[in-house]
Amino acid sequence: MRFCFFSDDRLGLVEGQAVRDVTAALNALPAARYPYPTHDVFIAGLSSIIERIRMIPDDGERLSLASVSLQCPVRNPGKLIAAPVNYTAHLKEAIADETTFSRAHVQRIQDTGLFLKATSSLIGSGSTIEVRQTGRRTDHEIELAVVIGSAGRDIARWRALEHVAGYCIGLDITMRGPEERSLRKSVDTYSVIGPWLVTADEFGDPAGRGVQLCVNGEARQLANTRDLILDVPALIAFASGFYTLHPGDVIFTGTPAGVGPIFAGDVIEAAIEGLGEFSIEVREG
Ligand code: MN
Repeated sequence: MRFCFFSDDRLGLVEGQAVRDVTAALNALPAARYPYPTHDVFIAGLSSIIERIRMIPDDGERLSLASVSLQCPVRNPGKLIAAPVNYTAHLKEAIADETTFSRAHVQRIQDTGLFLKATSSLIGSGSTIEVRQTGRRTDHEIELAVVIGSAGRDIARWRALEHVAGYCIGLDITMRGPEERSLRKSVDTYSVIGPWLVTADEFGDPAGRGVQLCVNGEARQLANTRDLILDVPALIAFASGFYTLHPGDVIFTGTPAGVGPIFAGDVIEAAIEGLGEFSIEVREG
């Protein structure tokens, strides 16, 4: 199934080029009362939502996908985990360009580990990327984004995919420079997931998926998830050795080679095989 949030917090099921409004199914979620859970309630309740959708009548009415604005498919994630350099070809390009890639940040992922991006940086693909500090270089990074479905710590690699709710196309927008990654990659709007959430059962094996990013129609990044250094199960096992993973946590799996600068006025087109595609505008923030 493909879940989206659209317009003013409507829940939709994406079917081809159409959206079925299933907002009524959100009633399956528990009423909120402070203190709120620190995980994403929608993702935690996804199986109840799916059951409820089966019960609500389908009147056959559909909206055109092109007519709706897509919001972030995970609205309240507890954390955004991200993999630094996780494709060998991107490691090589980073090693070759000392001006852009600070030496402190160019190491094997097994040595660097993971980093966190602020959840306040997260937007959906219907929003706009707002570039800050325009005198500095800011880059696009397309990444397969994994949404955790069930909590776990010290998750074994062979059981890791059981903890996945679904997948999105992710953009880890990055200001280059010497500071910590968490600072440069947590700017408002610098984390994008979209266009919708494709459930794990529909998506299948996350390995062997074509990844493509274009800027203003020009191909910049072309890769395949089979070339990840730490693949999705390995990333889940690694991350869960440090923090408990909760429903709605998002793992950005790392970007392939071909990263490059973006500027106000650019349009980024991102596509991952089996997830669909989206385009998003860049403007000055
Ligand atoms: Mn990245």
